[in-house]
Amino acid sequence: MANIDVKLRKDLKPVPAVDKLGFGVHFSDHMLVMDYTLEKGWHDARVEAYGPIQIDPSMMALHYGQAIFEGMKAFRAADGNINLFRARDHFRRFNKSARRVCIPELDIEEIFAGLKKLLEVDHHWVPSAHGTALYIRPFIFATDQFLGVRPSHTYKLMIILSPVGAYYAEGFNPVKIMVEDEYVRAVRGGIGEIKTPGNYAASLLAAVKAQKKGFTQVLWLDAHELKWLEEVGTMNIMVKIDDEVITPPLNGSILPGITRDSTIKILKSWNVPIVEKQISIQEVMQAGSDGSLKEMFGTGTAAVISPVGSIHYKENDAIINNGNVGELSQKLFDEITAIQFGTKEDVNGWIDTIVVK
Ligand SMILES: *Cc1c(COP(=O)(O)O)cnc(C)c1O
Repeated sequence: MANIDVKLRKDLKPVPAVDKLGFGVHFSDHMLVMDYTLEKGWHDARVEAYGPIQIDPSMMALHYGQAIFEGMKAFRAADGNINLFRARDHFRRFNKSARRVCIPELDIEEIFAGLKKLLEVDHHWVPSAHGTALYIRPFIFATDQFLGVRPSHTYKLMIILSPVGAYYAEGFNPVKIMVEDEYVRAVRGGIGEIKTPGNYAASLLAAVKAQKKGFTQVLWLDAHELKWLEEVGTMNIMVKIDDEVITPPLNGSILPGITRDSTIKILKSWNVPIVEKQISIQEVMQAGSDGSLKEMFGTGTAAVISPVGSIHYKENDAIINNGNVGELSQKLFDEITAIQFGTKEDVNGWIDTIVVK
């Protein structure tokens, strides 16, 4: 495996106080960088000072969006070591995203080694207060200087690190969501099942519209019939009707969330009925009015579990569990975060421990 060059900066930044962390606003001292050329493939993995980079105005990623990203987290365990959650699974999904937009794939072990090195260098950026984490953002963008539409011949990969505050510093706060029945996020056969910037640009207008009306998030329906549940904001969605948890299947327009997968595996281990099947907004609203809709929550790396308190669809509202956090939502949040912080045994092999010396 290629050696990872480390160029340490001398002007280390102060780490912000825990109550000032927020999400994605502060960045650590260093970043991992790697380049791709046709001749050399992915090469020159290095840790260097975090900072601005120079790009050419004709750089392809700016014009045609040939770019991908990932989002994962590292946690400070009680013994001071760092727990990295499902990193290889995130890198496998990164490669899947790469294939879909003609970006050359990475060697999983090589990129994993690069991330590990970066975390060793910037280990003091992993916060230790309860509920905090280090958010890890790997991304790749096309760097050819060219205005024709074709896959780029050169790319840059970076991994940047951002310490993040507790998502639920004031406790769980169930969100109010609006069902979007005009705009769609993604279509089957398109790029909705990968993490590529265009999907998020496509989602902004609906999110702004929902926020103007006083809602926190958008519930996305399928693009063909505007009928079937797809995702909520940038999270996967799960509903509990009577005793069964239902989540839409990975049909090609839904992002295959790692938290979704973790949640399904945990529910199965608890013998809670969980099915992956299409569920329509009419069924959900009906369950809301007849009292069988017990819980609803989003799953994603940032929030882990995000309980939904109410849904607004056309002229109707469904209030879920009186707007309170459901028992199962709470239990899942507690379980996943306990595995992440190392207070619960990692029976699934989801954690890589980075020993801090
Ligand atoms: C990242 C993401 C998710 C959640 O995936 P996780 O791996 O659980 O973080 C869900 N939907 C969209 C659109 C996403 O971008």
